[in-house]
Amino acid sequence: MLEQQLESIEQEAISTLDNVDDAEALETWRVANLGRSSPLMGVFDQLGQLPKEERPAIGRLANQVKQSLESKHAGKVEFLKLADLRRSLETEQLDVTLPGRNIPIGRLHPITQTLRQIYQIFAEMGFQVYQSRDVETDEYNFQLLNFPPHHPAREMQDSFYIEGEFDDENPVLLRTHTSPGQIHAMREYAEENPHDPPPIRIILPGMCYRHEQVTTRAESQFTQVEGLAVGKDITFSDLKGTLSDFNKRMFGMQVRSRFRASHFPFTEPSAEVDIECFVCGGKGCPVCKRTGWLEILGCGMVHPIVLQNGGYDPKIYTGFAFGMGPERITMLRYRVEDIRYFWANDLRFLEQF
Ligand SMILES: [Zn+2]
Repeated sequence: MLEQQLESIEQEAISTLDNVDDAEALETWRVANLGRSSPLMGVFDQLGQLPKEERPAIGRLANQVKQSLESKHAGKVEFLKLADLRRSLETEQLDVTLPGRNIPIGRLHPITQTLRQIYQIFAEMGFQVYQSRDVETDEYNFQLLNFPPHHPAREMQDSFYIEGEFDDENPVLLRTHTSPGQIHAMREYAEENPHDPPPIRIILPGMCYRHEQVTTRAESQFTQVEGLAVGKDITFSDLKGTLSDFNKRMFGMQVRSRFRASHFPFTEPSAEVDIECFVCGGKGCPVCKRTGWLEILGCGMVHPIVLQNGGYDPKIYTGFAFGMGPERITMLRYRVEDIRYFWANDLRFLEQF
């Protein structure tokens, strides 16, 4: 009778231990199964009432059950400790009190930032971006733009020539300005309808190359943004309006523009455009060399010979063109003293933008 009772006490205790999953529940289990008022202790209490000859066997059996339950209890204590540790490793591995590690974030090159601003302003005025080639022939870089061989203006734009089996009269070179793109663009547009070519409104950004001494003001490679508008009834007023508006959007709505007569072979008439110095407001300072004005770009009405070379009849069509240097604009805006910083790849410089 007591033997069966001990057996069921043990089975019951073992099966309820399976459901124990924390220290509090384990203590409740210990009190219920090994505590003073537990059924097992009740069996020990009854031993004295048993016939003498049965006591040793039942006593031994009761002790075995007690030891078995105690060892199961000890095993469960260890198991819960490990489970606790595992849980804390899993959930507390991120110590939010530690300072974070900085992930370096790249950024756009200052010239790219300036270029994108220029694109945006002209996009709002209806100009599209036209990409032209970096490698050109003398014909496109000079001749078609009204720089005949031996023209003195060529002196200012010595280039890097590419070796090969080329025509001596028409060598291949790295473009010295973005202007040859004007001819490519006009010819491409004119091809669509040679008898009535469509109007053009484009900007031509890109890298230019000059074989000249590198100084704080001059690099052997630099970016330029060319602009070209061709159509019927385009006048110098359109040129002035477009560029004055550009200057306002680029440098501030109060900024005043000044057009000075100049000369370029591929425009007639030609002008240089200055803006009122945004450092001193026109009073004169070292940045504007005490003049109150900053030179920003060159421009003019497209020369009839250039229109002709592009496939646009200068008796019917007119146009204007301009060219600016994003390096110069960036240098003026951020007072960068040396153009060579832009290509030196020094993070101490680049990270400031
Ligand atoms: Zn100034």
